[in-house]
Amino acid sequence: MKRVYFDHSATTPVDSEVAKLVLEYMTDKFGNPSSIHSFGREVRKSVEEARDKVAALIGAQAKEIFFTSGGTEADNWALKGIAAANRKKGNHIITSSIEHHAILHTCEYLEKQGFSVTYLPVDENARVNVEDVKKEITDQTILISVMFANNEVGTIQPIKEIGKIAKEKGIYFHTDAVQAVGHYPIDVNEYNIDLLTLAGHKFYGPKGVGALYIRRGVKINSFQQGGAQERTMRAGTENVPGIVGLGKAAEIAKLNMEKEIAHVKALKDKLIKGITEKIPDIKLNGHPELRMPGNVNFSFLYVEGESLLLNLDLKGIAASSGSACTSGSLDPSHVLLSMGLTHEVAHGSLRLSLGRGNTEEEIDYCLEVLPEIVARLRSMSPLGAGSSTIESNPCSSCGGH
Ligand SMILES: *Cc1c(COP(=O)(O)O)cnc(C)c1O
Repeated sequence: MKRVYFDHSATTPVDSEVAKLVLEYMTDKFGNPSSIHSFGREVRKSVEEARDKVAALIGAQAKEIFFTSGGTEADNWALKGIAAANRKKGNHIITSSIEHHAILHTCEYLEKQGFSVTYLPVDENARVNVEDVKKEITDQTILISVMFANNEVGTIQPIKEIGKIAKEKGIYFHTDAVQAVGHYPIDVNEYNIDLLTLAGHKFYGPKGVGALYIRRGVKINSFQQGGAQERTMRAGTENVPGIVGLGKAAEIAKLNMEKEIAHVKALKDKLIKGITEKIPDIKLNGHPELRMPGNVNFSFLYVEGESLLLNLDLKGIAASSGSACTSGSLDPSHVLLSMGLTHEVAHGSLRLSLGRGNTEEEIDYCLEVLPEIVARLRSMSPLGAGSSTIESNPCSSCGGH
């Protein structure tokens, strides 16, 4: 069967050049970068070259890049490290209600440690209001953390404006840019970003490797104690294959960014246009313009995203949904609810995230099978297309949580 991958926001396929390099550093080039001998020296050089490449992708200096085990670790480090190092200065953190759980659950942990956290609301397009950021700042505020682009609906936040406010007030600004790095131009100086999270597997690099950018001079605790790796900030023998792979992925992303944005955006526009023309009773989730080039997210009224997902999977199409009735969590996406969607509309959401390997033929194939699936599910749905009480009807499989 034809297999189509439309789930690049969950993870991307590893670039073949990256994979080749990773293998090389798992076999021939196995040295420990801390070793003095030639085996160590050759990989030390490669790790530092990778650092240069990651830095170049976001306009940073190499010594401001610290390798981590991925996005989650970098998010944890940024928040806990800043909180612990600046506790005397204040105990207040500002974030948004639509962050990834790596941020939200870390904030909840910090609240238990005595910190106070403000979760900014978002508008119907999932955007934070810059005035709200200003309003919530107190003399206790030590950190603002707002994601660059949302992983579910693709909305891009007013990062430059928030960075400006943070700088004026002398408050550190962190952004979880996992969805944006490698896909969208980012310059940490232009945006006044003090800390930035990125992850290799979201831009065609390996899993289990990422980085935290820490602007020179920022007061932050080290992530863990041990050896002197990462300038004593993140102890432990480096994940050399992962780091070298991440560097390669960064280099490729920088080189092809413009071309890739154009390619992915054209496919996205075609898919949005096709779905809008072919399927009635739908709602585009996320900002119509200020969104990631590859993100498509719709709610299909009267159907559940989970059913859509399973039926698309039977046709070989891999997508994702903001509802998870059958996967253990009864709650629909916190992102969609924050945007003001009802539980029912949130349950009908489907995310199709496109990437560099996708083709027009794949979009055509999706536009051929998706309308049939939606029509069939609607004809079977207890919610029933044309039901006048969609707003108050419970979700059929989880009772409207
Ligand atoms: C994927 C993702 C993460 C987590 O990154 P991992 O490398 O999987 O730990 C964090 N934030 C956002 C926005 C993400 O999309």
